[in-house]
Amino acid sequence: MTRGQTLRPFYWRATALFPGQEIVSRTHAGRTHHDYAAFGDRVARLAGALRELGVEAGDRVGTFGWNTHRHMEAYYAPPLLGAQMHTINVVLPDDDVEFIVEDAADDVLLVDPGDPFETVERLFDRFDSVDHVVVMGEEAPESDLPVHAYEDLLSDADPVEDWPDVDADAPAGMCYTSGTTGTPKGVEYTQAMMHAHAMMVQTPSAIGIDQSDVVMHVVPMYHVNSWNFPYAATVAGAKQVYPGPSPDTETLADLVESEGVTLTAGVPTVFIDLLEYADDHDVDFSSLERIVVGGSAAPKGVMRRYATEYDVTIDHAWGMTETMSIASVSRPKAGMDLEGDEGLDVRAKQGLLSPGLEMRVVDDDGEDVPWDGESFGELWVRGPTVVDEYYRRPGANEESFEDGWLKTGDIATVDEEGYFEIVDRAKDVIKSGGEWISSIRLENALMEHPEVVQAAVIAVPHERWQERPVAAVVASGPVAEDDLRQHLAESFPRWWLPDDVRVRDSIPKTATGKFDKKALREELEDAPTPYAPEER
Ligand code: ADP
Repeated sequence: MTRGQTLRPFYWRATALFPGQEIVSRTHAGRTHHDYAAFGDRVARLAGALRELGVEAGDRVGTFGWNTHRHMEAYYAPPLLGAQMHTINVVLPDDDVEFIVEDAADDVLLVDPGDPFETVERLFDRFDSVDHVVVMGEEAPESDLPVHAYEDLLSDADPVEDWPDVDADAPAGMCYTSGTTGTPKGVEYTQAMMHAHAMMVQTPSAIGIDQSDVVMHVVPMYHVNSWNFPYAATVAGAKQVYPGPSPDTETLADLVESEGVTLTAGVPTVFIDLLEYADDHDVDFSSLERIVVGGSAAPKGVMRRYATEYDVTIDHAWGMTETMSIASVSRPKAGMDLEGDEGLDVRAKQGLLSPGLEMRVVDDDGEDVPWDGESFGELWVRGPTVVDEYYRRPGANEESFEDGWLKTGDIATVDEEGYFEIVDRAKDVIKSGGEWISSIRLENALMEHPEVVQAAVIAVPHERWQERPVAAVVASGPVAEDDLRQHLAESFPRWWLPDDVRVRDSIPKTATGKFDKKALREELEDAPTPYAPEER
């Protein structure tokens, strides 16, 4: 029997070896500072309080909140008791929240005050399973719901001292895919998976967090355990910064500066916005060493600017809800003799698969494609941090899993060195006249244009060519659409060029901050195509 592949040794190491290390949290009531000793006590009290509310091993505790120290405590107390922590995205539409809480049948909900609480209050009649709502603040609002104030519960609780032996296979976490591809699908993470993923994040081959780091958690804690950074940073003994409810770029820039953040992580749009903010404001990013960017492709222009203007390295990572987030990182191998932008060319790929995992890239006939940087197929991955089923979704299981492999739905090439590059998601692929056009390559090239801040390329139906690419672009200054086509023409064949380039104020985003291509497709579906396809 394997003992201890659980979260308990993480909690032990942090509180026993780094009791004085700091946890900074921006809450609705202001910025707070705790140390790991206080964290240890508060987790033990939260666990005692949850027991009082009837939570037992096997029960499910939903969380519905932003990135705060309280949410971090909720990442530990339920799993340490053998219960399961289920994070729910606070910016989803009501119907999705209702579906997710019902599907997961949460017993208790830990909810942020403000908008999240109002959502729960609005939907509570439809939550059959939920017995208690704990409001993560000093006090609970007046309400007809069975509400408790988090801080009252902690003050009154008997702290848990003898943590139970929890089975490594016990479900410890749960998250739903964001639903951009249909009804949200639940995935469960066991203790062993969460342990393994945080340890994988810890290796220098993946991210490598050290006790000397100051880690700011920008990835929402409601999304794939904030890429498990709250576990990895805790077991490392690092100082942690939780930026609180809907943090804007000003808040993030201020936290970097005032707390001396060395490492942070998130989707590209956050760090594109931060660069824009830095252009117009006096910022001090001198403490910042690394940003892990993933969730969507990291644009090369953004990587170049962070490196040259702020001496910050972008570690480009790829992953999915089903792989517990990060499953690859792209850095040049030792000995690669790279000049100028060549290092960025490597970093802009999705990279080398992280330790512990295996991959295949498979064509339509089920054959592995050659590693030549050109041939493409679907990326399959497997390993101890990859789920092998969806929660209660047999139909989806059949489609996505085969012989222990997760069929990611991402289309990739692999080069001779084993670096893979995602060229599209299967559902975003543009097929024009039977030939494939990579939306991601076009987006990256558009974002290389000095005036382009954001770019998304989608397929629109076309009578003759079945589909044609259309681009939506947000620019920082005046830019002619013809210039952008000209810019693309330097790198791509004529038939790859978007029929239409729409300069817009914004591009719709998903609940996790990625470009929402489904919504964009709907908006642009009837877009006229001023450039005759005959020009191909
Ligand atoms: P959603 O399906 O809502 O986007 P996930 O967060 O699970 O939810 O998204 C995983 C998908 O995001 C991957 O399958 C891939 O298509 C995309 N993705 C993640 N990281 C990257 C990256 N670095 N580059 C390109 N695409 C990425």
